[in-house]
Amino acid sequence: MKIKVGINGYGTIGKRIADALIKQPDMELVGVSKQSANYEALMAIKKGIKLFVDENSVEKFRNAGIEVSGTRLEMIREAQVIIDATPDGVGAKNKALYLSENKPAIFQGGEEPEVADVSFSALCNYDEAKGKNYIRVVSCNTTGMLRIICALRKNFKIKKVRVVLIRRAADPKEVKRGPINSILLNPVELPSHHADDAKTVVKGLDIFTMAYVVPTTLMHVHAMNLQVEGNPSKEDIIKTIESSNRIIGISKGSGIASTAEIIEVARDMGRPRYDLPEVIFFEDSVHSSNGEIFLSYAVHQESIVVPENIDAVRAMFGMKEKEESIGLTDSALGLLRGRLV
Ligand code: NAD
Repeated sequence: MKIKVGINGYGTIGKRIADALIKQPDMELVGVSKQSANYEALMAIKKGIKLFVDENSVEKFRNAGIEVSGTRLEMIREAQVIIDATPDGVGAKNKALYLSENKPAIFQGGEEPEVADVSFSALCNYDEAKGKNYIRVVSCNTTGMLRIICALRKNFKIKKVRVVLIRRAADPKEVKRGPINSILLNPVELPSHHADDAKTVVKGLDIFTMAYVVPTTLMHVHAMNLQVEGNPSKEDIIKTIESSNRIIGISKGSGIASTAEIIEVARDMGRPRYDLPEVIFFEDSVHSSNGEIFLSYAVHQESIVVPENIDAVRAMFGMKEKEESIGLTDSALGLLRGRLV
């Protein structure tokens, strides 16, 4: 029996989750719900995805020539779980509706942790999310950090984590965001909120983050420093990271040293929308001495949280054990293991 899923919010994240969900053998997409009568709504219909809209917006969509399959409430009632991918803060407002309809939901990282019973990152705390009615998938930056931390934790005892996050300024479609000619200490907060966010998943670990925003739209880059017990070799670190799901390495011989080249490879591979849900780890960036590890990796912000949303559904309904769910999601999405190139 397939779990019926509805997606509320069909923008950058919602449309990617919808495409991923259709590929899962144990899930069925009831449809998606949207607020704006725009090209994304038209694309959903072109793809054969049912479009549901707010009761008061039916006219607005029909006037724009966009046919709707029903109201958002009808979608919520038909689905067994809602994935909420609405803009930051809107998910928390929607929760009242999900509660009144007795409907479980999965929220995104733009919501405060309190919106859900658990903050989620599949490699780190899949089991904690089992049977929970409200799950929050952490943000793109936090998902990237947590994948690296939890992969390394399998073989090394981590004492401290320090990260400088170099964040992309906007998603490519966001025409009104910047900066376009500056490096922004945004917001000037120490640590940046990513540290606390990561600690909602790996509780008790000493994590400190600093964040900057730079004028690019392709990917984030993180420079991470970890203090560990012992003195692991560079080879052991690379082997540990690259044996994990959802993290792939870039070898020295590839000549890749930038986010632009990484995205070019994704285009060459024919990845839809040049998405890379895997964390892209620079093998050459690893330095290890006196119990300190330095390394860097890149995060494709628009797609990285997609596999985690799929796993969150399975954890919620106890459909699969952790490794089984991660493996199933990754093979359905064609994610790579080992190296990108
Ligand atoms: P988006 O603006 O691209 O899409 C939001 C969608 O929600 C749009 O389809 C919009 O029409 C719809 N919407 C707006 N108001 C609504 C309402 N009141 N009710 C229902 N639908 C409404 O946003 P996004 O970038 O996809 O972000 C969604 C969530 O995912 C946020 O929590 C964000 O922080 C998180 N997130 C975003 C990224 C990213 O790179 N964009 C990465 C990770 C997590």
